[in-house]
Amino acid sequence: MKKDSKIYVAGHRGMVGSAIVRRLQREECVNIIIRTSKELDLRNQREVENFFQEIRPEYVFLAAAKVGGILANNTYRAEFLYDNLMIQSNVIHCAYKYGVKKLLFLGSSCIYPKMSPQPMKEEYLLSGYLESTNEPYAIAKITGIKMCEAYRAQYGCHFVSAMPTNLYGPNDNYDLNHSHVLPALLRKFYEAKINNQPNVVVWGTGKPRRELMHVDDLADASLFLMQHYDGEKFVNMGTGKDISIRELAELIKKIVCYKGELFFDTSKPDGTPRKLLDLSYLYSLGWRHKIELEEGLIHTYEDFLKNQAGKYF
Ligand code: GDP
Repeated sequence: MKKDSKIYVAGHRGMVGSAIVRRLQREECVNIIIRTSKELDLRNQREVENFFQEIRPEYVFLAAAKVGGILANNTYRAEFLYDNLMIQSNVIHCAYKYGVKKLLFLGSSCIYPKMSPQPMKEEYLLSGYLESTNEPYAIAKITGIKMCEAYRAQYGCHFVSAMPTNLYGPNDNYDLNHSHVLPALLRKFYEAKINNQPNVVVWGTGKPRRELMHVDDLADASLFLMQHYDGEKFVNMGTGKDISIRELAELIKKIVCYKGELFFDTSKPDGTPRKLLDLSYLYSLGWRHKIELEEGLIHTYEDFLKNQAGKYF
C-alpha cells in the first residue's frame, strides 16, 4: 500500500472506520475513498457493483457493519443477519470481481463458542455452540471469514480477516438500548453524577469478563496487517487482558468521580461469561497494543464530555 493508493474505508462514520481513516491520514495517505450509507447502500448489490466498477479501489478496509451491544444484538436478530451478510457479501464479491489488491475484513470475538476454553485461539472457531444473544451477528461474521478463505483458495485473492475483541473509543454509540457496556456505563455514571442519583444500574450480575481494546490500537493493528500480513488464517486482535463488568463499572465510577452505589439488574442477560483472546499469533507477526484500559478510558471520557454529553442535557 503506497501513500497514493486508492484505499476504500467502508464504514468510515462508525467508531472503527473513523479510527482507520484517522490512522491512514496520519500515514499521509492521500487517496482515501469514503461514502456515506446514503451515497452508497452497501446492502444493495447493484449500488456496490456500480461503485467498484467506477472507482476501482485498490485496497479495502471492510469496517462497515450493523453493530451493537447485547440488547441490540438480541432484539434486531433479523437485521444483524441480513444487513451484515449483504454488506460483506457485496463488498467481498466485488473486491474479487474488480481486482482489489488486498482486503481486510473485520469481525468480532463473539464468533467463538460460548463455553470456549480461555484464552481463545483462532483454531477454536466452530468447535461449539454460540452465545444465543449474539448468534445472528456471529454467524454473519463467521460467514465473512469463510468467504475470505474461499475467495483466497479458489481465486487467489489477498483477503485477510481480523477478529478484534470488544472495542471502545471516540465516536462510539452512547444510545443506552443499543450500545456496548463501556459507553453505556460512561453515560450512565455521568448522568447519575449530574442528577445526584443515588445509584447506577449495571446490567446482569457483573461477573462476566470482557477484554477491551481502544479503537486507535485496532486501527494501528489493521494497518499493520494490511501492510505486513497475507495469510489464510484469521488473526485475533486484543490486549490479552480482561476485567469483570463489576471491576469495569468501579473503574468508570472512579474516572467520572461518581459517589453513589452500583445496582445490578439481574433481569438483564450476562451473555458470554468470558471471551479473552489468545494473541500468540498476532504477537508472532510483530504487533502489540499500546493503550492501556485506564488511559484509554480517561481519553474516551474526555471525548464524551466534548462531543457527546451536550446531546443528553
Ligand atoms: P457483549 O460483549 O456482546 O456481551 O456486549 P455488551 O458490551 O453489550 O455487554 C457486555 C456485558 O456488560 C454483558 O454482561 C452486559 O449484561 C453487561 N452490561 C452491564 N451494564 C450494561 C449496560 O448498561 N449496557 C450494556 N450494553 N451492557 C451492560
